[in-house]
Amino acid sequence: MPLLPVAQALERVLAAARPGQPVVEVPLIDAMGRVLAKDVMAPVAVPGEDNSAMDGYALRCADAVGPLPVVARIAAGDTAVAALPAGAAVRIFTGATVPRGADAVVMQEDCQEREGVVSVCAPVRRGQNIRPRGQDIALGATVLPRGRVLRPQDMGLLASVGLASVRVYRPLRVAVLSTGDELVEPGSAGLRPGQLYNSNRYTLAGLLQSLGMTVVDGGIVPDDPAATARALADAAAGADCVITSGGVSVGEEDHVKAQVERLGQLDLWKLAIKPGKPLAFGRIGDTPFIGLPGNPTSVFVTFCLVARPFLLKLQGVTEPAAAPLEAAARFSVSRPGDRQDYLRVTLSRGTHGLQAHRFANQSSGVLSSVSYSDALAVIPPGVTIDEGDRVQVLLLDQLA
Ligand code: AMP
Ligand code: MG
Repeated sequence: MPLLPVAQALERVLAAARPGQPVVEVPLIDAMGRVLAKDVMAPVAVPGEDNSAMDGYALRCADAVGPLPVVARIAAGDTAVAALPAGAAVRIFTGATVPRGADAVVMQEDCQEREGVVSVCAPVRRGQNIRPRGQDIALGATVLPRGRVLRPQDMGLLASVGLASVRVYRPLRVAVLSTGDELVEPGSAGLRPGQLYNSNRYTLAGLLQSLGMTVVDGGIVPDDPAATARALADAAAGADCVITSGGVSVGEEDHVKAQVERLGQLDLWKLAIKPGKPLAFGRIGDTPFIGLPGNPTSVFVTFCLVARPFLLKLQGVTEPAAAPLEAAARFSVSRPGDRQDYLRVTLSRGTHGLQAHRFANQSSGVLSSVSYSDALAVIPPGVTIDEGDRVQVLLLDQLA
């Protein structure tokens, strides 16, 4: 069977992702990381009226230079602001409403006020130091679109148009099952020969948490057909998606594939991806299923490249792709591979921009290669790299 290119696998999983999470209303203060379920229109303009960007004097350009009588004092928060009569100025402070009739604010450093009369000693331009009504957000404009993952600045923006709550999609509940008789939960006393601590459960929990999703922990599943079937069925009943690690190769101890086929439907692909290769995708009943490889680094990479965009689309996010940056390779790849290689690299800033340094041990079992790196450098199949060549890098901060 030929290896399936990553882009094609992604196309297939995205085509199968049917967003349909229920919509819930949450207080804005709790909206961080949530996905907007409706376009948000501005019920008010921001700012609500022209206001002053400076402490100084508001006047008509035509009256500039002066001297002009100072007929009022307007501070931020004053709500009853009278119009400015011709041939006069008002004392005004930053953030205060500019009175009707005034078309410029002159900063106080450029003015001289004596006995209630102000003179201007600098040129005055129409509109200067006035923040026009709606310059930030126009009344009725789309503030943020449906499908947007809310960031801290978005929360502030929504508050600035007066919203106290937002409609968002309920977070996906994602079940995580760790398959393998060799696995032991960290915290239990000691390992016997042949055992190892279950790290995938924690990597996957962290990845899902960073996407704002709810982890349903399915624990460790023994390498046994009946136990695997039971665990998969239970997980599917209580979650919006099931993710497993391990047990999807073709070994005798790999039971996930056969049991998913019994309970639903399965495509098993050999992806042209390194680290990683076997990846299972399908459903258990109606619940989507993703079977990741077992090796800890493969889990991380295949989750980020394939599972993450699938889950984000299911969650209602409209732009799930992480955009790569370019860096200069501070390494070489002399033998072209037949899989797309995601090298773990650290980044530094050189005189000509970003530089990528290859982490020494790229084995798919070496999880420290991910922990100690900043990015994944994408080396397409059939490609060799010389020192200094441009390579695409995906920042780990953008993936997890
Ligand atoms: P498998 O695909 O089940 O044969 O697993 C491939 C490799 O990944 C084996 O060396 C496993 O011991 C390792 N592995 C599988 N699951 C985990 C896990 N949850 N945590 C750490 N290593 C794992
Ligand atoms: Mg296994």
